Amino acid sequence: MRYVIIGNGAAAIGAIEGIRVNDKENEIILISKENCLSYSKPQLYKMLNQDSLESIYYRDEEFYRFHKVTTMLNKCLKSVDFNKKILLLEDDKIKYDKLFIATGAKANVPQIKGFEGEIYSFTNIEEALKLKESLVNKDKIAILGGGLIGVKLSEYLHKMGKEVILIVSSEGVLSSIGDQKISEILNNEIIEKGVKLLLSTKVIEAKKEGSKIELKLEKDIIVCDAIVSCKGVKPEIFPFEKTELSINHGIKVDENMKTNIEDVYAAGDVTEVYNHFENSYCNIPILPNAYSGGYCAGINMSGGDIKMDTIYPMNSLQIFDVQMITMGLLRPSEKDEVLYLFNSEKKIYRKLVIRDGKLIGAALLGDIDRAGILNNLIRNNLDISSIKDELLNNKINFYAIPRKMREGIVKLYTEGIK
Ligand SMILES: Cc1cc2nc3c(=O)[nH]c(=O)nc-3n(C[C@H](O)[C@H](O)[C@H](O)COP(=O)(O)OP(=O)(O)OC[C@H]3O[C@@H](n4cnc5c(N)ncnc54)[C@H](O)[C@@H]3O)c2cc1C
Repeated sequence: MRYVIIGNGAAAIGAIEGIRVNDKENEIILISKENCLSYSKPQLYKMLNQDSLESIYYRDEEFYRFHKVTTMLNKCLKSVDFNKKILLLEDDKIKYDKLFIATGAKANVPQIKGFEGEIYSFTNIEEALKLKESLVNKDKIAILGGGLIGVKLSEYLHKMGKEVILIVSSEGVLSSIGDQKISEILNNEIIEKGVKLLLSTKVIEAKKEGSKIELKLEKDIIVCDAIVSCKGVKPEIFPFEKTELSINHGIKVDENMKTNIEDVYAAGDVTEVYNHFENSYCNIPILPNAYSGGYCAGINMSGGDIKMDTIYPMNSLQIFDVQMITMGLLRPSEKDEVLYLFNSEKKIYRKLVIRDGKLIGAALLGDIDRAGILNNLIRNNLDISSIKDELLNNKINFYAIPRKMREGIVKLYTEGIK
């Protein structure tokens, strides 16, 4: 019996840990096209001003030894013959009995009319090191995209002393994660700290003028030394494109992280999962989902039977001096109840979205205390009608929650997926 894992990110690590819960002996082979141990992508920014990879490793070498994993690094999967259960690498063929796919996502880099130079991206070590090398003689950097990576990269480059121009097509940064108010607060914070933020605009074309780049926007023309695209990511599905694997916005998986093909599982950024609150399948490319999905798949591949926890988007980050946590659904429908408070002086914003008495989304800015309680209330699907005002005003602690509710939360912690 041989398990083969494609990928070495958070989902792959979750799968290894899941498999070894039930199966301590059978062979696990891990194949990854990158030539390094698993690393944490939220720490990737550190690679811009340090040389050693070690501080961003997600697991060390001992981890693979301990879990009896044979690693095949620097090997790229090209295609799969699912009927014969054979993986085709560039220069090798590997047979599997159970397959776990965790190829993650790749950068979405747009074509810019008239531009033939390099457009950098920032989704893996290779791209981060390439950007780092190019920064040596570049001062003015244009970043395209106001999502999580674009905003954090702007902050990082600004702190490194670069002049940063952040170009965003929507009215505010992080518009897909939060809501209008969150974007407004963060737009102000970014501008206050010295990043040039250009909103509601797009790059029309660009041309190289010697070592400089002239970017023509809808309303402006700017000159910069480098362009970095942070315009989101898309699932890395190329090895499976001409196969019978069911793929939509990502590889389709059920609650057990099974694909439509027998003995083939998948998790993480490469998948499309069921979002309970949106009542639809979507790609939620965040680390906790990748790890939990991998763990769930690992348990099921090795003979267990568990379902993936309720899946929803969740983000925890700090943009300059503003701390923020968002979870669940923040764009309410007409039938949802929305509670919020805003203190502009203290830069505090709290918002709760409630459906049928149950918490389905929360955003905390500035004051992020007790985010864990809110997250557990969402996960447990508990009625919060009697404590909603206390939750909004952050006047509640775990022991003030009615006993039945507390029991539900504890049960989830002790029985749930790691
Ligand atoms: C800069 C940055 C910051 C982020 N910040 C956050 C954050 O703050 N919070 C958060 O929750 N999430 C964050 N994320 C997202 C998070 O890192 C991802 O959701 C998570 O890494 C997904 O894990 P994964 O295992 O699905 O894929 P990945 O971690 O992308 O791993 C994919 C693996 O597959 C391998 N692979 C791909 N194709 C092949 C192939 N053909 N053959 C062999 N191997 C292959 C790759 O080498 C890699 O090992 C961030 C991402 C980036 C890029």
